[in-house]
Order: sequence, then C-alpha cells, then structure tokens
Amino acid sequence: MRWSEAFIPTLRDDPADAEAVSHKLLVRGGYVRQLMSGSYSKLPLGKRVCRKIENVIRQEMERIGAQECELPTLHPGEVWKRSGRWDLIGPEMFRLTDRRDTDLALAVTHEEIFTLLAVELRSWRQLPQVWFQIQSKFRDEPRPKSGLLRVREFVMKDSYSFDVDEEGLDRSFQRHFEAYRKIFSRIGLETMAVEASSGSMGGSESIEFMVRSDAGEDLIAACETCGYAANVEKAVSRLPAVEDPACEDVPEKFATPGVRTIEDLVTFEGGAAAERQIKTLVYVLDGETVLVLLRGDHDLVEQKLLDCSGANELHAAGDEEIRAALGAGAGSLGAVGVSGLKIYADEHLRGRSAMTTGANEDGFHLHNVDLARDIAVDEWLDLREVKEGEACPLCDAALAIGKTIEVGHIFKLGTKYSETLGASFQDEEGASHPIIMGSYGIGIGRAMAAVAEANNDANGLIWPVTVAPFEVIVSVVKPGDVETSEAAARIYDALREAGIEVLLDDRDERPGVKFKDADLIGIPYRITVGPKGLAEGKVDFQRRRDGESRQLDVHKAADWATESILEERR
Ligand SMILES: [Zn+2]
Repeated sequence: MRWSEAFIPTLRDDPADAEAVSHKLLVRGGYVRQLMSGSYSKLPLGKRVCRKIENVIRQEMERIGAQECELPTLHPGEVWKRSGRWDLIGPEMFRLTDRRDTDLALAVTHEEIFTLLAVELRSWRQLPQVWFQIQSKFRDEPRPKSGLLRVREFVMKDSYSFDVDEEGLDRSFQRHFEAYRKIFSRIGLETMAVEASSGSMGGSESIEFMVRSDAGEDLIAACETCGYAANVEKAVSRLPAVEDPACEDVPEKFATPGVRTIEDLVTFEGGAAAERQIKTLVYVLDGETVLVLLRGDHDLVEQKLLDCSGANELHAAGDEEIRAALGAGAGSLGAVGVSGLKIYADEHLRGRSAMTTGANEDGFHLHNVDLARDIAVDEWLDLREVKEGEACPLCDAALAIGKTIEVGHIFKLGTKYSETLGASFQDEEGASHPIIMGSYGIGIGRAMAAVAEANNDANGLIWPVTVAPFEVIVSVVKPGDVETSEAAARIYDALREAGIEVLLDDRDERPGVKFKDADLIGIPYRITVGPKGLAEGKVDFQRRRDGESRQLDVHKAADWATESILEERR
C-alpha cells in the first residue's frame, strides 16, 4: 500500500476524554474512531490488526477441531426467556420489538442460539462437537470507557463444546485452555490464567486469561511463589487465627452515642478493635432481605455473595428497607436474636466470641457476643475480599493484588442450556441425556487494545510482527528525487513479491513528519531510502522496538527485511 493513497488519519493530540494508553494511541494512529459512547469504527489499519488476530484465533481453533459458523446477532426474545436469561441479564441486554410487536434481543452472547442448533445432535455417535464464530456482540455497559476495553458493541470469537460426559467436557475445556495460551502468546500477550466467577453464565468452573495492565479494571490476587492466581471475585487467602478473650454468659448492651461506623467504634472509649467487631450488612437478594456478616475489618465481595447464594440480582438495602428489617439505622445494626431473616456469615467469623456488634437500637451496641450462641447463622460462606500481602492459600507467601485486562474467558457450562432448550442425545443403550456444554470467548477489539497497552513507548505503538497492520514501512526521504523514489519502489516491489506486507510512505512530507508517523503507527521495521545513503549504495534498516538500526546495501535490503520478518511471523 502507498501511504499517499491510504486512509491513515494520524493526529498530533490525544483525544480529550482518553485515559488508557491504547485508547490514545489507537485514535492518534488512525486505527479507530469513536462513533458514540462505547462504539468504535475500525479504520483500515485497525481492521488489518483485527483481521490478523482473528486469523491466529481461527488457525488455533481449527487446530483443535473447531468448526466455524456464523449465527445471527438479532435473536428472538422467546429463546432468551426459555433459558431464563431474558430476566437474568437485565439492562445489559439491548432489546427491541419488530413491527408485529415480537420481542427481540441483540446478541449478548450465543449460548442459547448454539444450543438450539445442538438440538439436531441426536446420537452419541455425533459427539463431541466444537463450533465457533467470529461475530458481533452487544452489551449496554453502564459505564463504557477506556476506548476499546469496555464497549457496547464488539466482535468476539465465541466457541461452544458439546460432549457426552464430564470427561469429554474436561477434554474440550483443556483443549481450549491450550489453544488460548497459544493464541495469546502468538499475538504478543503475556497472560495469566486465573480462577474466576462464572457470573450470569452459570456452570461449575471458569478460567479467565488476564493481562497485567494499569488500564485494566479487573483485580487479580496472585502468588509469585507458587503461581496461584484468582480474580478477587473468587480469590481466597489464609489469615492468622484470632485469639478471643473470655466471653461473658450473655451479650451486654452499652450506649454508643454518635457511633456510625466500624472506625467510630474502634476509637470510641470502651469500643472494640475492628477485628473484634461484627460488620452487619443488609442486602436484598432477588427481592429477599438478608443479613450479611463479616469481621469488622473485612470487606464484602458482592460477586461472591451472588455466586454463593445463587441469587441473580442483589443490591444493598436502602435506609428505609434497613429500618423496616431491623428497627434501627445503619451504624447500630446487628444479628443477635434476629429471626425471620436469612443470615449469611463469612467463614472468618466462625467460632468467634466476645465480639462487639450493633444492638438494633440507635446509639447502642452489644459486647460479649458469641457467634455460635447468639446468632442464628444460616450459611457460612467465603464472602470477604482478599487484600494485598495476605498469605497465599496454597503456599503462605504474600499475595499481590494487581490490575489486569480480561482477554479471554472459558466456562464449563454443564447442562444448564441443553436442559432448558432440549438438546439431548441417546447413548449406546438408547437412553437420553442432556448434552454437556462449555463456552469460550475472546474479544477481538479488546485483544487489539490489550496488545497496544502492552506494546508502546513515548513515540507510539510497537506492534509485534504477528499482528502489525504492515510488517515494514519504506520511508522515502525525498520523494521528488527520481533516483530515490525509484530505489524505494524497487524495494517495495521486491518485498511485496516476497509476500511481505509493506507500506510505502511516498507522501510529500518532511522526513521528520514521516518518521514520527511511522513510530506512532508502530510498524515493526522501517527501511529509510534517501539520496544521501543512496550515493553510497546504502539504505537504513531500523527496528521499531529498540531503535536498533544498520546500514544495508540497497540491493540486499528487501532480502534482509524479509528474513527478519519471516523469523518473527510464527
Ligand atoms: Zn502461593
């Protein structure tokens, strides 16, 4: 491609609202343009990068026997109602009606629609199957941001496995795990595989592939020593046991005027240290008011509460709901003697005594509370948020908490969708069973943004050869000079002949502008052709990543570049 004929609208300044580096550079480099909040057009360079990522994915998917399909993005609402997710997913789903007033949905994901196809699988002989597609999804994100990292419309590779038993699902899951490892490594992403919450997808097990990045929104707890890693929505740690002092026979009420928070009670005279307090939270789970108890210095992870309770939706109770449930305001809440409300307590409160908690009377608290004796806990759960420096659950080394971008997620779904949508098969004896499913996703645009986040410097992007929109840029220093432009054209032709993707910067611009643009758009190799070098039969060959350059014989430049690129293509 000749730059003079290309649409590569580079910009000097960052977009006003951009925070993430990938967002700034992809807009400035002319890769993407925002249409509206959470919605981006891919310009030619952006499309080239995405196509390469898609092709790597396609190759690795086909290598594990997956077959490519393409399903509609416009779905009948009725199918989503049958699976229960019409209500479960809530405002994240774009919904519309057609002219006959039929409910429709834009694809949030495709478990339901692929399962409908799997209804045609009747016999164990037809299984296993793995189907995939690379296609658009829509999610009405509450806060779209960070450029392509959190958007409302995006292209995704999603695949689905169909097996006869759990062992088959394990195999399909493991094959995807290996394929994902290869895909991310080939496109230049260093990923961590972490235990994750399955969220609204359901199923028994899920693993996220995460890239460390300050632009990320997911918090991961990771152990350098043994490799344990989990999303904080799922992570656990080992805490030192707390010795409780002797506890009186009955809780003792005491006045705590002005005490509103755990912290207030710590500093209040006659109060209690945070780890000696019980934090009482009031939540509404699928319409039911419940109490959630944690140690005073611990924080609740709402996703853990959702996962453990099996609820679809939760929110913290408002002031009025709290008062109606417990007869006091936040600040004096407790679970002692409470009946009629379900009580969930975090494991780290189990066995504790001589604790302090609210008395359900404004301005009063209770000392000498024994969890086993005084509170009717319905379920003991892991609900607390793991903190930096706590001990790894596997090896006791200190856990580190870091920000990451989720680039892939694989789920063992089990029979949730096959049962509700009627996808079953007959075994060798003729007995019918629901098909066992897995689902597996990679967001293409987010992968591009993650590669951009991980590969840049002050001057711009630095694409790995495997995803670069062009592999070499030939910069013509003085396009008006016939000898120079002819020499550049010969190198350009030779590279194209060799199958190298090359961009010829033949624009009538100053060399400084061309070099700046070349660095900004991040082409891995640059060959600079100018009259000065040509006078000695030389051109300059430079690597973008480290700026390393060498003078090459003008006749050998194309061969040299070809060799370097083929080595890195993988
Ligand atoms: Zn460890």
